[in-house]
Amino acid sequence: ATPMALLVGTGRGARLGILIRGAHVLESTRRIDTVVLDKTGTVTSGRMSLTDVVPVAGLSRDEVLRFAAAAEAGSEHPIGRAIAAGDAALGHRDPAHLTGSRDGSDSVGRSSTGETTDFSSEPGGGVQAVVDGRLVLVGRPGWLADAWAIGLPDGLALARDELESRGRTVVAVAWDGALRGILAVADEPKPTSASAVAALRDLGLEPVLLTGDRDAVARTVAAEVGITDVRADVRPAGKAEAVRALQADGRVVAMVGDGVNDAAALATADLGIAMGGGTDAAIAASDLTLVRDDLAAVGDALRLSRRTLATIK
Ligand code: ADP
Ligand code: MG
Repeated sequence: ATPMALLVGTGRGARLGILIRGAHVLESTRRIDTVVLDKTGTVTSGRMSLTDVVPVAGLSRDEVLRFAAAAEAGSEHPIGRAIAAGDAALGHRDPAHLTGSRDGSDSVGRSSTGETTDFSSEPGGGVQAVVDGRLVLVGRPGWLADAWAIGLPDGLALARDELESRGRTVVAVAWDGALRGILAVADEPKPTSASAVAALRDLGLEPVLLTGDRDAVARTVAAEVGITDVRADVRPAGKAEAVRALQADGRVVAMVGDGVNDAAALATADLGIAMGGGTDAAIAASDLTLVRDDLAAVGDALRLSRRTLATIK
């Protein structure tokens, strides 16, 4: 009787938009009491948009954005794509804009053609590339400070705090070894995230938000969807550690994620759940994949597998 019931469960799972790697997976869902949710692309849409550009004194917004966008041109990260798209939206691909900055400030980037070489990215950190012969860095302010010894000047640190308190993710831009400005991107929770979190609580599961983003940003998003346990500023390697720490506390953990940076944590969790729109690495590391990019399916999956197991017993 067992294999039959499991097949019914997996068939129903497929109809609910849940792909189950193997029937054995259902067994591990029974004792799950904690659901760890990645923030970007899992709780939020991951479709970021550029909202603010704050240059250091003497530079224009245009210059800072143009160099950042050129450096991010090869980026697959949602933040990088938002910066490149924000630049395109402002018309910087139009040569007319390359002759000077709009506010008339002395322009180091005046002759920028946005020619980019030597691109590389550091997961959880940012990107570096050579743009018009200058080494440009775009990334987490802490990464620029730690890896490159380029800190935020006081005025920009204040601007960063203000933007983060509004839930925006802030990245710093530097070239030629000096900090040139900060950019902010916004990413909204998916419309179904708050009700999906409520559904997890109804099932007796404790939601935890886990992210490489900063605490202030993470807490704003968490408050919007009803999560109180927030673990922020976690580097990609630290995500699996965070799951292990919960397990060491006796929790049985499901992890839901979408990114390359989530793969190790997905594999470490008692149950790894990949978002349908997630990266191949996340899907490969998971036990379940949600067909739709919708957090509501997490509760459906756990409810279904519990019911299927009840049928077997
Ligand atoms: P999350 O855990 O929310 O999915 P990530 O681990 O992907 O976030 O990224 C953590 C932080 O690293 C970002 O908030 C950002 O500051 C920085 N970062 C990562 N990739 C980039 C990039 N391409 N451009 C700028 N900053 C980046
Ligand atoms: Mg993510």
